Amino acid sequence: MMERQPLRVGITGGIGSGKTTVCRIFENLGAPVYDADYWAKWLISKDETVKSGIIALFGPNAYNKGVYDRAYIAGLVFNDQEKLTALNALVHPAVERHSLAWHAQQIGHPYTLKEAALMIESGSYRHLDRLIVVTAPVALRIRRVMERDGLPEAQVLARLAQQMPEAEKVALADFVIVNDGQQALIPQVWQIHHTLLLQCAQIT
Ligand code: ATP
Repeated sequence: MMERQPLRVGITGGIGSGKTTVCRIFENLGAPVYDADYWAKWLISKDETVKSGIIALFGPNAYNKGVYDRAYIAGLVFNDQEKLTALNALVHPAVERHSLAWHAQQIGHPYTLKEAALMIESGSYRHLDRLIVVTAPVALRIRRVMERDGLPEAQVLARLAQQMPEAEKVALADFVIVNDGQQALIPQVWQIHHTLLLQCAQIT
């Protein structure tokens, strides 16, 4: 009998909502987690096809002694929607291919999780079987990120402004996790984990 592919579950939410925190709990329950933001950075640094695409777009100064110059590129794409779109058109498909190859290796797991901050904005959620959205009040999210990253409020607000409103993400979700500091996370994750296991069992 052919081993069935695990279900592909995405997990997203606004900045500071608690995606990474929630993923740690899923990992403890045995779910493999793909951190798309980490792998995007890795591919930009290491993948020769992505690297040459970036150099073709932005010139040789995109890499400084072989190290991706994030600040330089950020300066170039700031206020240049066309360049930003071209950069995303290079990186997003590379992450999609890489995550698919990773997913194909997770044989025996009922489902895998793919964590990404801009999963809905980028459209990559469409390739997934289920979507989890982590929510938290915006004031709490801002405070968490200021504390975690030692950033001034203005910088957190600037990052927030690049993201879609939470309500629009919730509207697309199969599962919502409320991480407002009041409702406990573990029971919410546990419930989703078991629902997913049941759904996987029904598909098999
Ligand atoms: P980003 O989009 O910036 O990557 P994220 O959605 O992955 O953020 P986390 O890094 O998980 O969010 O959480 C942001 C910060 O808030 C972290 O320092 C984390 O430890 C803290 N945090 C998250 N959830 C809780 C909670 N329920 N109680 C206390 N602290 C929390």
